[in-house]
Amino acid sequence: MSISKSGANIENLIDKAESGKDLRREDIIGLLKLPADFSPDLFAAADRVRHEQVGDEIYLRGIIEFSNYCERNCLYCGLRKSNSNLSRYRMTEDEIIATAQQIKKTGVPTVVLQSGEDSFYSQDIVCRLIERIRKETDLIITLSIGERALNDYKAFQQAGANRYLLKHETASRELYKYLRPGCDWENRLQSLRLLKALGFETGTGNMVGLPGQTPEILADDLLVMKLLDADMLGIGPFIAHPDTPLAGIENDELEITMRVLAVARLITRNTNIPATTALATIHPQGRLLALQAGANVVMPDFTPEIYKSRYDIYPGRKDVGSAEEIISRLEKDFQTIGRTINYGTGHRQIKK
Ligand code: SAM
Ligand code: SF4
Repeated sequence: MSISKSGANIENLIDKAESGKDLRREDIIGLLKLPADFSPDLFAAADRVRHEQVGDEIYLRGIIEFSNYCERNCLYCGLRKSNSNLSRYRMTEDEIIATAQQIKKTGVPTVVLQSGEDSFYSQDIVCRLIERIRKETDLIITLSIGERALNDYKAFQQAGANRYLLKHETASRELYKYLRPGCDWENRLQSLRLLKALGFETGTGNMVGLPGQTPEILADDLLVMKLLDADMLGIGPFIAHPDTPLAGIENDELEITMRVLAVARLITRNTNIPATTALATIHPQGRLLALQAGANVVMPDFTPEIYKSRYDIYPGRKDVGSAEEIISRLEKDFQTIGRTINYGTGHRQIKK
């Protein structure tokens, strides 16, 4: 369908997306470029599909950002190797286990272990950590530690990791190459395919508002998410960090990020889609708005206070307080939109 200015055509397109019919690239571009008046209709359609496919309850994943060392130099990220203003840390194994135990105490059933690409954490070290967390807390484990070798992925899975988050970041090979010096888009995609084939619940996703990004590239991002049949989709606004080469770029990206998220829900149906911390960072209501436009997951940050501010990917992150305080704040926020927390594991759900 070509997008005309006619309201009827736009409504047809939103209806087509809501009904689950396959959308062509032009349809997706059309949804991303909708006149502003139609945004509420798009978000409401995504909200209905979220309700029908994954229910009303919100699933939590507790994040531990255990190392801010990184060997990469991504132009957008405050953890990049060349950022000499950052005070680096690595949590000890015991600190990580103690934090996982706090997450377990709050009732949150899954932990996301996140870090820069840090080869200090050899295959053996990561496996030992996974085994200890499984044994001492029984939490479901998601890794978000960047690209590793196939052998590593296999070993991590054998040790007990269940999920892996590796955002493709952007579907544009050129932009990817520019933003991630020395990295190759095809390798990233190959890792994602391997993870999926190994049986990991696999997460991908992108940043919205990158310099040089167009609605066409965003449509390709959405097609990558669909083609990979990813189980989780992390979609967040790019936020410029002052100590990176992309310092100073404005980030008024709430509306377009929510559109990408809403279309992701419409085309992937039953995936787990977090209302990202980055959305909560650029707008006080960002998290709740995303939860009403297709999102069904929240990933609170349980990194100990002494390290949290040093995991400085981008400025303005706010999840402060003890694990209990964070959960109780979320519960209250969710109540304001009539939603509650589900303390289940939140595996990708099959339509009821
Ligand atoms: N190092 C691993 C990796 O890159 O996959 C995991 C940690 S990395 C900090 C986690 C995510 O942070 C990336 O996938 C990227 O999308 C996001 N990120 C990094 N810099 C960002 C920025 N300036 N604004 C928004 N998101 C950012
Ligand atoms: Fe490192 Fe990940 Fe940041 Fe890139 S995005 S610099 S790989 S932590």
